[in-house]
This record gives sequence, C-alpha cells and structure tokens, in this order.
Amino acid sequence: MSTEQFHAIGIESYENWQEPKAFTYTPQPQRPQDVDIEIEACGICGSDLHAIKGDWGTPYLPLAVGHEIIGKVVKVGSEVTKFKPGDRVGIGGLCDSCGECRRCTHGNSNNCRKCVPTYHGTYPETGLHTQGGYADYIRVSEKFTFKIPDNLSSEIAAPLMCGGMTGFRPLLTAGVKKGTRVGVVGIGGIGHMTILFAKAMGAEVTAISRSDSKKEIALKLGVDHYISTSEEGFAEKYADSLDVIVNTGSSFSENSIMSVSSLLDAFGQFIFITAPPMNENIELAPFFLLANNYSVAGSALGSPADTEYMLQFAADHQIKPWVETIDINEESVKTAWNRLDKGDVKFRFVLTGYDKYFKKN
Ligand SMILES: [Zn+2]
Ligand SMILES: [Zn+2]
Repeated sequence: MSTEQFHAIGIESYENWQEPKAFTYTPQPQRPQDVDIEIEACGICGSDLHAIKGDWGTPYLPLAVGHEIIGKVVKVGSEVTKFKPGDRVGIGGLCDSCGECRRCTHGNSNNCRKCVPTYHGTYPETGLHTQGGYADYIRVSEKFTFKIPDNLSSEIAAPLMCGGMTGFRPLLTAGVKKGTRVGVVGIGGIGHMTILFAKAMGAEVTAISRSDSKKEIALKLGVDHYISTSEEGFAEKYADSLDVIVNTGSSFSENSIMSVSSLLDAFGQFIFITAPPMNENIELAPFFLLANNYSVAGSALGSPADTEYMLQFAADHQIKPWVETIDINEESVKTAWNRLDKGDVKFRFVLTGYDKYFKKN
C-alpha cells in the first residue's frame, strides 16, 4: 500500500462528465488528527451529479466525487483518539471545519463558514483540493469520521452518511414524533430514506410526487398516504393534512411552492434539504406565511453528534435504504451516473468491489 499516492476515478472535464477516468493524486500530508481509510463502499449521491456537471461551479480537475464513504481505518495520526486501525468507519459530506468559530464550538460544525466538503473542497491551510470516495483511500480528520455500528452492513451504511443524515436531521429539527403528520416531496435517494426514518419515528407519512407513477413503490416503502400534485384541486382537497413538509425534490419549477405549502396546517414547517443549481430561487409571499403561521427552513447534513445519533438510530431501528450495488470501474461509474441522471435507480447506487478494481490497477 502506498499512502502517498491515492488512486481514484473521476472527471477530467466538466463538459465530458459522462467519461469518468482513472487518475492518481497526492493526498494532503497527514496531520496528527487525520486517519487514513481504505474504502470499501461509497454511495452515489445526487450531489455527485451536480458537482461533475458544474452546477456548483468548476473549481478544479481532475475531480473524484463520492461522499457516502465506508471503509476501514488503516493508519492514524499521533493525536487521533477515536479510532484505531481495523475500525470500520464512515465519512459524509464534510471532512473538516475551522474548529474555532462560534458554530464549531457550539456543536454546529456542519454549518461552519469555513467547512471543507469531502470533495469539491479546498483546505484553507494548504490550498490542497479534496477528493471523494470513488478512490482506494481517503485521508480525513477524525472529527468528521464516524464508527459504523456492527449490525449495519457497509452497503446499507454508505447512503446514510449523506442522504440518510440529510433526511433525518430536519425530522429532528421539526420535533417529529409518534403521530406527527410528515409529508415528503420527492421519492428518490434522499426522499426514500426520509420516509424510512419518519416511519421509524412513528410519524404518519405522506409521499408527495408529481404524478401517480410512484404511488405503488411509495406504499411499499411504508407511506400512509400519497398525494399527486397533478391531481386537480389537490391543494384544497388535502389542505391542513400535514404538520411538516420535507422537500427532497430537486426543483419547484413545475409546482408552485405555494400550492404544496397549502397542505400544511397552521404553524406548519416547510424544510428544504436538497441542493438545486445555485441560480434557483423560491418565491413566497410574506403575507401567505404570516396568515398561516408557516415557517420555511433549510437543513444541510448534520453535526458530528447528529451523525453518531443517526447511525445508532438506524442500527436500532434497522433502517434499510434500498440500494443497488455495482462494482467500481470506469464503465460502471459511467453507467450509474447516466442512470441516476434519468432517475433510473431504486433508490441508491452503492459502489463496491474496491478490492477487485484497485488491487488490479
Ligand atoms: Zn468553524
Ligand atoms: Zn450527498
């Protein structure tokens, strides 16, 4: 094993994002707080597609994405206290934060203004870029590394690291408990995990989608109700039927946010958790908010404490995201990206077979 050259699969150009290629990179020099992780599984998150298409800017190349990473610790820095070699761990959307600002020192390091994304990020001290989990190894601070409970398999745990955490956090924020009426807009990667978590918390869950095409599968996921926003008069028919709406859909271009919000009872909360292209805005009339006592909020990932809690909750309640595993290589990454781009996966691709590919190449 060479710890100083990591092997990855990523894009060489944002225009040709559909042509992933193998490359090697030099990781940032190991700091005392860093752990080296030999990767064994990585989920393919919707964020991966946004990043490689340049939706969030075009910071550097080559770029390996992937931030739903599970692997084994192989080396620890001198100040690492949480882990030892052999531990099975996970990494999500962030790999570092400043550690000094008010947010970092008050348990919200995931909202640190200087936080470093696991890929598509730059370490402020060194200017070195981060590379994600479509790679043989990753080197990250122990602060954003988490022990995986033994009864969660790596394929199941991988999607929880970003998508699962992202879906779980707004349910905590909204105080979801037994009987809370939760609506989930969008039945995809993050949406299906949000449904699984909300059900496990005892909520009465409604799936909200543009048509009836996902009704059957939503019922299989365990939802109690289903609303199609193409149904004439749906906003009036189901008015006041929800306490919380979590929006996991990527865009509101086809449905006015106002009509979907009308499903909320007074004091309802509408929480946005997916990251659309940077230029997308939502339009809301303040009068509409005050007349209904609505709150509109955003939520990104979770803090380190949230992540530990989420993993234990998932283990205790046997939360099982629906995954399709594929062996990592250039061709299969290309296929998976193209299928995900068309929404053709139920519901999460997880890259596996790292040994096979990286030991051979
Ligand atoms: Zn900070
Ligand atoms: Zn993600």
